[in-house]
Amino acid sequence: RRFKDYKLSEDILRALDSLGYQKPTEVQSSVIPSALEKKDMIVKSRTGSGKTAAYGIPICEMVEWEGNRPQALILTPTRELADQVKQDIMNIGTYKRIKAIAIYGKQPFARQKTQLTYRNHVIVGTPGRVMDHIEKQTIDLEQVRFLVIDEADEMLNMGFIEQVEKIIRELPKDRMTMLFSATLPKDVKNLCHRFMNHPLDIEI
Ligand code: AMP
Repeated sequence: RRFKDYKLSEDILRALDSLGYQKPTEVQSSVIPSALEKKDMIVKSRTGSGKTAAYGIPICEMVEWEGNRPQALILTPTRELADQVKQDIMNIGTYKRIKAIAIYGKQPFARQKTQLTYRNHVIVGTPGRVMDHIEKQTIDLEQVRFLVIDEADEMLNMGFIEQVEKIIRELPKDRMTMLFSATLPKDVKNLCHRFMNHPLDIEI
């Protein structure tokens, strides 16, 4: 398979070419077509499989550039991953001029608050800090249509699952949800079934 076989715009295809991505990885060929149809998904796959682009490509494709409020929220367990995902989204969305922001603890809250008033299509964040911004009403999630929970098993191990659940309850119901995890413990599966709509199960 080739990226050209998917319904992707020139801006995205050109970015993949610039990144040197010649063909989709296995997880990408399983995820991208269904994601473009806005199906909810539970994806069992590990780091190094190209999972970030598996959700990053369809999200960059489907986000409307004209929208000036955040349209996608990506939750990650760590700051390092949040930064990495933000960078990957900016790379994939470079020719579409997609703006992404990473928010996590240990960064000054006030600066993030200011950055959150700028135009961002995608917010990437760790659950604790995202919840802080929700509680202080410094984050606008009303237009979020895409939610990704990345490394869900790590979130569980780090004790973030309750926060993740609280965040999900703040989001519009009319959205696509994708969850990625290397393993699928019971608590992760339960979370999926509470917040997803007939999810596809994808195992790589
Ligand atoms: P990830 O699993 O998302 O951490 O990605 C692992 C690495 O694979 C990253 O360095 C990506 O830039 C790279 N990558 C992702 N998709 C592709 C692709 N289709 N072709 C080549 N490299 C890729």
